[in-house]
This record gives sequence, structure tokens and C-alpha cells, in this order.
Amino acid sequence: MKKNYSIETKCVQGGYTPGNGEPRQIPIIQSTTFKYATSEDMGKLFDLEASGYFYSRLQNPTCDTVAAKICELEGGSAAMLLSSGQAASFFSIFNIATCGDHVISSASIYGGTYNLFAVTMKKMGIEFTFVDPDCTEEELNSAFRENTKAVFGETIANPALTVLDIEKFARAAHAHGVPLIIDNTFATPVNCRPFEHGADIVTHSTTKYMDGHGSAVGGCIVDSGRFDWMAHKEKFPGLCTPDDSYHGITYAERFGKEGAYIYKATAQLMRDFGCSQSPQSAYLLNLGLESLHVRMERHCLNATRVAQFLESHEKIGWVNYPGLKSNKYYELAQKYMPKGTCGVVSFGIKGGRAAAERFMKALKIAAIETHVADARSCCLHPASSTHRQMTDAELSAAGVPSDLVRLSCGIENYNDLIADIAAALEQV
Ligand SMILES: *Cc1c(COP(=O)(O)O)cnc(C)c1O
Repeated sequence: MKKNYSIETKCVQGGYTPGNGEPRQIPIIQSTTFKYATSEDMGKLFDLEASGYFYSRLQNPTCDTVAAKICELEGGSAAMLLSSGQAASFFSIFNIATCGDHVISSASIYGGTYNLFAVTMKKMGIEFTFVDPDCTEEELNSAFRENTKAVFGETIANPALTVLDIEKFARAAHAHGVPLIIDNTFATPVNCRPFEHGADIVTHSTTKYMDGHGSAVGGCIVDSGRFDWMAHKEKFPGLCTPDDSYHGITYAERFGKEGAYIYKATAQLMRDFGCSQSPQSAYLLNLGLESLHVRMERHCLNATRVAQFLESHEKIGWVNYPGLKSNKYYELAQKYMPKGTCGVVSFGIKGGRAAAERFMKALKIAAIETHVADARSCCLHPASSTHRQMTDAELSAAGVPSDLVRLSCGIENYNDLIADIAAALEQV
């Protein structure tokens, strides 16, 4: 696919170009295994001397087709699909950090990722320092240690909706010889391409806008192909010294900057952990990607209109949407996402917890779900659901006050959404 095609054309046509007489839609290769004429042929695949498929736990043609599309959308050099966004976050770090290593992460990230880092990966011996995303560059630089291996953040954090200054984080990471990994789930490559601002690796929960229809859980990792692992050889032995578990291959030598990271994550981590996406899910994901650019525009329009309405309503205490001029992150959002941010708006209803619950019960269009970033509007009151084990004080400290309602605006008509919200507010 031509590099200079616009993002819209890449959404529709990227990743797959059928030959004469071949299927127009991507084929679903529903096969765990692949046949070879000789053992020697298959041996070459195991030695990574020939490219091809042998077992769908590691790679599958349908999944690779869709990964190739996402790779084009992000402007990367290589990509892989995974079974979930959680698997993508885990692999993205574990591919370059191990027991005894240290990673810096923005404190404003998805709750599931926070748990993965602060609790589960800590048990594996990887220590995380969480920094305020709005910290100064000095503060950020002082968080680095001798054994720091990566920096992690979200373009737009779920659910706090903080916008990351990607360039600031990239400068600090590169000054210390480590890559910047960005979870670009909420912005999607339609609204922001972190590689253009210095990020080295991008992850996605494809479960959200990319799928967009609540049909398949999935994840993706894309490598920019720009981080020079060999220039920081001592920091990344997994990429720059022979892998005894893989015929003594040295990934950074064999596959270069462009391929080493994804090859290693596939040949080693996918082999051992098996968090692979099913070809059926990849097919559904591709259907979502074909309309991603059209949907994102509508999500952003609806969220902007809803946020403006909420801001003017007397029963609303506060509104958080980075597309609003009054928002703390408006300037950063304009810089990194001039076309729009995302469809998620959070706000507080006067009257706190009880008022929020009453309001949500009265909504007719937005359904109460833990999900976000769906074509259908949905909403969540974290204090009484996902974060219910926390006290009001703990909730405030975590940036999720007890009155917070998270509304994920779908692609319905915004007048209908606003009328529904107005009617529900009457009940409060
Ligand atoms: C949902 C989400 C994840 C986790 O993805 P799953 O597909 O649910 O495993 C990671 N990051 C962000 C920003 C998310 O919104």
C-alpha cells in the first residue's frame, strides 16, 4: 500500500491487496496448523530462515493481514495482534524488561494497566515508578535509574482524559537511552500518530474504537522501527545477545531496528505465553477498521456537543473533555490531535454519588456498561461499579471522584443524545 495515501484510504484498503481472482474481503484462515512437503521446509521456518506459518499460536495469516493494516495506520515498521489490550501492554514491557529492571509510567493510565504494572509485574520483579503526566521535564528526568528500560503513557488516559505531552516524554526517554511506549487506544491513529511525535512503540486495546462495535476483545503492538537497540546493547540483552531458547538468534542483528522487537515478541513471548488473537476476531476487527475514520469524526462531534451542553447545565458541577476550550488539556489536545480527541466525556453531577446513580438509571440511549468507545453510547459510574472498593477520599486521590460519570458518546444523532441527557437530569 502506498505510503502517501491518507489515513482514510489506509483504513479502508490497508493491509490487504488481493491478486487476480482472489477474495475481495480478507480470508479467515481458520486453521491452527499449516502443511509442508518436507521436514526441511518446516525446519527453515523454525530457524526463522524462511517466512511462513506453522502454528496459529505464533502467527496466523488473517491476524497478520490486520496487523499490517494497523501498522500502516500508525506509520510503523512491524506489528502484531494479541488476544487483548492487556496482553499488548504486558508484552510491550516484558519484551524489553525483566526481573530486576525498572520502568517509568505515567500515573494517569487505564486501571487495568495500572494493576498489571503495580501489582502483577511487580511480583515478576519489575519495578514501576508512576509519574504525574504534567510533571516538569526535570522531575521526569529525575525518575530514571541505571536499570530503567522503558517509559510508558497513554495519549488520552482512560478514564481521567489527561492528554500526554508525548514529545516531553520522548525527549526524556531518549536522553536516557530507552524507548517510549504509547497506548494510543483512545485517540486511535486517525486522531493521533505518536510515532510522528517521537514515540517508539505503540500499543492498542483494539477492543475499543478500532473494533468499535463491542464484538471482539483484542490488542495490537506496533513498532516504529526507529529505536536503535544495538546502540544501547547493554540495556537490552534480550534483543542484542543470542537467544538460547531460539537457536542462538540475536534479534537486533538478524532483523535490524525495523523487525527485531516484533520478531522477538512473536518468536519468544507469543510462543511461551500464547496470547494470540483468533482469526475470527481479527476479521471482525478489520471490519471495524474499515470505518474507523468515519466513526471517529462522529464520536468527536457528538462528544463535543454533549460536553458543551453539559457545561451549560446548572445541575452539572464540572465537565472534563479535552476538546473543550475551558479544558486544562485543550492546548495539548490541539497540538497532538487537531482533528479531535475521542468520544468519552466525564462529568460530575451536583449531589454526588446518589445523583449520579439516579441520572444514569434514567438514561434511555446510553446503556450502563463497563465498556467504552463503542458505536452505541454507554456510561459508567466508577464509584458504584469498577472502583466500588475505594473510599471517597481514595477515589479523589485517584482522579476518579465519587460524582464522576463517564459517558462514552456513540455515533447516534447528538440531538437525541442531548435530549436524553436533559430528560435524565430532570429526574435528579
Ligand atoms: C481497555 C483498555 C485497555 C485494556 O484492553 P483490553 O482489550 O480490555 O484488555 C488498555 N488500555 C486502554 C487505554 C484501555 O482503554
